[in-house]
Amino acid sequence: MIAKMNKKPIKKKNISEKKIVKKEKTVVAKNDIEENNVQNKGGGRTPALLRGMKDLVPKDEFFWKTLYRTAENLSEAYGYGLINTPILEEAGLFVRTLGKGTDVVDKEMYVFEDLDGGKICLRPEATASCARAFINHGMQSLPQPVKFWYYGPMFRHDRPQAGRYRQFTQFGCESFGVHEAVVDAELIAVAYHFLEDLGLKTNIHINSLGTPEDRQNYLVELTGYLRTKRSYLCEDCKKRLVKNPLRVLDCKNPECQAVLTEAPQIIEWLSEASKAYFMKVLEYLDELSIPYVLQNTLVRGLDYYTDTVFEIYLDEEGEGAQSALGGGGRYNGLIEQLGGRPTPGAGFAIGLERVISVLRKQTDEGTCKIKEVFPAVFFAQLGEQARKKALHLLENLRKGGVIVAHSFGKSSLKGQMEMADKLKVRYSVILGQKEVQDGTAIIRDMESGIQEIVDQKKLKNALEKKLQPKV
Ligand code: AMP
Repeated sequence: MIAKMNKKPIKKKNISEKKIVKKEKTVVAKNDIEENNVQNKGGGRTPALLRGMKDLVPKDEFFWKTLYRTAENLSEAYGYGLINTPILEEAGLFVRTLGKGTDVVDKEMYVFEDLDGGKICLRPEATASCARAFINHGMQSLPQPVKFWYYGPMFRHDRPQAGRYRQFTQFGCESFGVHEAVVDAELIAVAYHFLEDLGLKTNIHINSLGTPEDRQNYLVELTGYLRTKRSYLCEDCKKRLVKNPLRVLDCKNPECQAVLTEAPQIIEWLSEASKAYFMKVLEYLDELSIPYVLQNTLVRGLDYYTDTVFEIYLDEEGEGAQSALGGGGRYNGLIEQLGGRPTPGAGFAIGLERVISVLRKQTDEGTCKIKEVFPAVFFAQLGEQARKKALHLLENLRKGGVIVAHSFGKSSLKGQMEMADKLKVRYSVILGQKEVQDGTAIIRDMESGIQEIVDQKKLKNALEKKLQPKV
């Protein structure tokens, strides 16, 4: 991609980049505009955040930590082991597995020449990396299935817009070694329960692509049909028709959608065995009361899928929803494609920026099920002596397991009490000059305003007692 850009004359490139920036500004999400619009008042230009990238700032810390903990708890409960693969990989890993003709490989990969001349890239997804690691570490000889979970950044040179970034974070699970409908159902259940644990009601859109042979037979039929309707297709789909006709099924253009209403459906081209397998997956989902809708145009963008494919949408978005929170499916040929022994596999990935954006919206509306837990105690100090003493007392409290908020940047009692109110703490500890000399501290009940003087040595016990739930 970089090599392609360098071939263009520099002047022309600048003009076209400017045009793109202007055009795309209108579709950037509101939150991103706020984050990127920091005014630069003095001393030279502040380097800008790269387009499509986001900083993780403390206001979102609670969401990120909750997502990580939820992913970790759930993965452990279902027996998935953590895998952490590098962000840089050989570019060929993705070209071979995702396939030429896919948007990710053709347009979105960050490919670089390494210092030693090798072609490397920032990983656009982690399934292929997991498959590579499975082979590299000889995991075929372990008891099957081998189950991984991962959590980390992915990179795609996509057109930034709401819910679409160039660096984004995925939580995903992969299961290698067993070709059973129950494995597909378990993966769907983990993805569904992850979002459910976060208070999100979702719906699974599901389809089957059958075996590579089923898919090939269908492709011939579909291509034949689409050729007869070529003149009605959008320009992008005319190109897709040549390069990767299955992708036409993903097109949201109303004219293409109209053409697709009459198109042959993949389910009719599945072998009896593939159909039976798919029915079994649906039976398990029924058993688990996981809501799903059959989506016969769902094919997912990547070459490696076989049998089950699925995407997860917020329930309220219903039919015609634009952006999936996650997706996945089965990929029985993937390990073999990378030179390993034939080994079935299946997995999913959920985009966490999209999940956080839903949670943030719900928080603003007061409907979010997950609530941030604020510290129960604020520590206020007055004067230099008290500040020094406070450092010790805070450390003792922390070691004793009492988490206390404070603000050493504020020196007035008023400012500190305002902060305590904002944090909605139940108690404040106040330490002034007099208390330092007496070896005491004041504990103030923030609701009643009642204050109590305690010995500094008994501060931890006194706070613990007050914070104990009343029976
Ligand atoms: P995929 O790896 O394409 O199957 O995507 C799985 C999930 O990752 C999607 O449903 C999104 O939630 C998320 N995702 C994919 N691409 C992006 C992107 N460019 N920006 C943000 N999230 C993304």
